[in-house]
Amino acid sequence: MIIVGVPRALLYYYYFPFWKTFLESCGAKVILSPPTNKRLLEKGLELAESEICLPVKVFLGHVQSLISQVDFVLVPRVVKPERRSYSCPKLLGLPDMVKTLLPSPSALLFPLQDRDRKKEMAEEWFEVARKLKGLSFWKFKRAYWEALKAQKKAEKEKKRDFYPRNGGLKIGLVGHPYILNDTYITHSLVKRLRERGVYVYLSEEVESSQIRKATRKLPKPIFWSYEKELVGSALFWIQNKLIDGLIMVYSFGCGPDSLTQVLLETEAFKYGELPFLNLVFDEHTSEAGLLTRLEAFLDMLAWRKLNAS
Ligand code: SF4
Repeated sequence: MIIVGVPRALLYYYYFPFWKTFLESCGAKVILSPPTNKRLLEKGLELAESEICLPVKVFLGHVQSLISQVDFVLVPRVVKPERRSYSCPKLLGLPDMVKTLLPSPSALLFPLQDRDRKKEMAEEWFEVARKLKGLSFWKFKRAYWEALKAQKKAEKEKKRDFYPRNGGLKIGLVGHPYILNDTYITHSLVKRLRERGVYVYLSEEVESSQIRKATRKLPKPIFWSYEKELVGSALFWIQNKLIDGLIMVYSFGCGPDSLTQVLLETEAFKYGELPFLNLVFDEHTSEAGLLTRLEAFLDMLAWRKLNAS
């Protein structure tokens, strides 16, 4: 049986339902790299250029950990996650970076994902199916359709209803899923907030219609899809007065998020000076430093809330 490795990093946190359903329908066995750990991070740091953002460094460590166990590594080239807006440049170039790591470039599967080029996208996934098992066109069509359906279902399941809540601190946590879900990199930030009784709201839980509506009044459309989700979700919480504070989590070396952060800080200030905390992660971020900043922020929010009531 052909084994395909999927790095448990970056776009895995968006598209794994699609990839897994499709690959398994093609008869492949899918294996994931382990959750990020010290060894894997060190490997990524060794392989990457120093100015690359932390999530890409981590990603390269994940790829390296898979190479000896698999026939292929899957790294789709995600160009437009939604119509008329793009992935960040580092994600666009990801397959090219990975090629340099592989013993043979043909061990890389890098089909296109692009909402504006559906035909080319289907053709490239058909090529993957042919490499793996030689599926007939009709069987491929069914596998592809099932994979798209699984993706849609998984995305729908992440969404939730937001409504004004009494009691307890409500915090909007703005950050890419590949950072927030990587407990090694973030020292389990989400869990730590929840353990302290905070209601944590995540960007990926906000409906795309609410994101579109919330970003409509911005002077310019946001060019990058994933940043649009971050900005739109935060604006949605702010405009509807759903949160007591906003935490933006991003990585050192991230160009798009450095712009997102300025935009959000300005917007948070416009809506009644909403408290805003920036947490920038890199490979040296210490747990103790993170906790000190978090505790100080939560104390300030609690004090503010008490004095407002
Ligand atoms: S959006 Fe930022 S963190 Fe994510 S891959 Fe691009 S540069 Fe890296």
